[in-house]
Amino acid sequence: MSHRKIPALAVLATLVWLSLAATAAVRAQGPVDSAAPDSAAPDSAAPASAVNADDGQIHPQFVQGNVWLMAGEPAMSNVAVQLAGEGVLVVDTGTRAMADELLARIQQIADEHPSPEGPPVIRLIIDTDSTADHIGGNDLIAKGGRTIVAGNFARDAQSQGLDTAATIIANVNLLAHLVAYNAQVPQDQQVTLPENAVDADVYDTHFDGEALQLFHPHSAVSDDDTMVMFRRSDVIATGDVVDMTGYPHIDVARGGTIDGELVALNKVIELAVPEDKQEGGTMIIPGHGRLCDQSDVVHYKNVMTIIRNRVQYYKNQGKTLQQVLALRPSGDYDARWGLNPDWTPRDFVEAIYETLPARGPSFSMRNETLVPASASITSGRAF
Ligand SMILES: [Zn+2]
Repeated sequence: MSHRKIPALAVLATLVWLSLAATAAVRAQGPVDSAAPDSAAPDSAAPASAVNADDGQIHPQFVQGNVWLMAGEPAMSNVAVQLAGEGVLVVDTGTRAMADELLARIQQIADEHPSPEGPPVIRLIIDTDSTADHIGGNDLIAKGGRTIVAGNFARDAQSQGLDTAATIIANVNLLAHLVAYNAQVPQDQQVTLPENAVDADVYDTHFDGEALQLFHPHSAVSDDDTMVMFRRSDVIATGDVVDMTGYPHIDVARGGTIDGELVALNKVIELAVPEDKQEGGTMIIPGHGRLCDQSDVVHYKNVMTIIRNRVQYYKNQGKTLQQVLALRPSGDYDARWGLNPDWTPRDFVEAIYETLPARGPSFSMRNETLVPASASITSGRAF
């Protein structure tokens, strides 16, 4: 369930962050670069300052509109917080260990932005992924808020004590994974389950004056992902579909596939609208790492598509997994994207190999939201 908890990674990620921060500082002081962004560059600088720091704290960073990013230690999962009017919406709840700190930081922002009724209260939580570093704080964060109880039911609910926790929403497959997980662990380690499990995209939800859209990529890093678009704030929280710390963590055992991942990345690109010169505009909060804009995700998608197509090319020649690994199809990108010790380039290539058909076409490098060989996806799902 858990990943990305190795201290060595934290040290490494800190070094990466320090270099990114230095780059950002130089950029901030230097003249405005009017050249078009180079999408083939190994990495592009953050459109906003990265705030991950290896200090055991959570650092709130204002994104835009009504959305904040709660960035924890480097490589730990990001938490998005939408705050307007009387309510707070939280996307992902981080690790259990950091939940108290997260709640305190959310409360701090809520206190700083009171409505006429007082500081807004946590009412809604959306889980984007079933790994322990995304749902670990479900219990504590939910208890820090209340559900929205409408109209006539409000008084009844209050008198019956039904409004004591925020509502957790997630994809129905996430609920299934957590039910299975809870059945295997002692009660004190069990995770609070979402009570609102949805099995399709949701386009018609409003929260505190903002239209929300929930997208379920069918088999991306897993089969339980949700991506959240804040339409008014123009922010997308992608969960682990986008991971600025490394290759996407495609968990084949949980239904993840490379082609589903590429479809999901293309969906993010389709939803995002860049501002001037392909930078800015829609802000994208990845599952891990720094804030992105559309051009960052285009670059990420291109790298993953190239590696995927190489693996398919070799697989079409009848090469075994070991032969493909020996050819290092991700080799030229590993220095930027292959640094997670618990999700190595070999792990990534293996997940690609396992979820591609024995013979199949290339994935288009254009913004393609259809899988070229959907019938051959191992999960058997159609897109
Ligand atoms: Zn994650």
